[in-house]
Amino acid sequence: MLTITQLQKRFGKQVILDKVDITIQKGEVVVILGPSGSGKTTFLRCLNFLEQADAGTLALNDQVIDAKKATKQEILAWRRQTAMVFQQYALFAHKTALENVIEGLIMVQKMPKAEAILLGTALLTQVGLADKLTHYPAQLSGGQQQRVGIARALALKPEIILFDEPTSALDPELVGETLAVIKSLAHQESTLIIVTHEMQFAYEVADRVIFMEHGQIVEQGTPKEVFESPKEARTKQFLARTR
Ligand code: ATP
Repeated sequence: MLTITQLQKRFGKQVILDKVDITIQKGEVVVILGPSGSGKTTFLRCLNFLEQADAGTLALNDQVIDAKKATKQEILAWRRQTAMVFQQYALFAHKTALENVIEGLIMVQKMPKAEAILLGTALLTQVGLADKLTHYPAQLSGGQQQRVGIARALALKPEIILFDEPTSALDPELVGETLAVIKSLAHQESTLIIVTHEMQFAYEVADRVIFMEHGQIVEQGTPKEVFESPKEARTKQFLARTR
């Protein structure tokens, strides 16, 4: 279980995360929606310490850390359990798909290379890239690169995978294949927290939809509740604009 308490973040005078409180169950699929600039990406980045929050507490199972004062060691331990999949796939250009996936296993987890290759091959197969192991990122489509990014996140067997608009950089015809892979991960081992503008996908995959605006959680519920009978005016407005 992940418990986030009073998470705050400012950039200059602008409040980006306004004392966010939320508890997410193990294995839950949570989709975060909200207008541009509402703080969704910053929220994910604070959850992975790519951004340091100004205040708040993060608790994952037994590990409880101060989001502002976390030590390097605490951050490393936390990151071993929270993998992030980025908008831009952030792959190493000079490494093959397989090398991208196994890099962390060998360097961070000190897994023997032969074992890492077996696992990396299995994961790339799982995301539909069995025939692309030795391709370099430039030889892959955007959707394929994103699936390498997903396999790389899976390799670390994280408790939580954070997806930051994983399809927003893709050509429309490549979005579906990536969403299908993400969908296939739901209710497997990891908790999924997904920021997306893909409403149909959110409807289909989420256990819980969160609508965020001005750094606050305005409304949350099942996809049916939030999409079909939103309670808050701001949620209604947002959904009307996206239809
Ligand atoms: P989008 O849907 O457009 O990706 P978002 O909801 O993910 O938006 P964030 O990217 O979290 O929003 O940004 C929230 C606000 O924080 C924006 O006003 C943005 O300009 C500001 N912001 C984000 N990163 C920084 C930064 N490093 N320095 C200053 N301001 C920032």
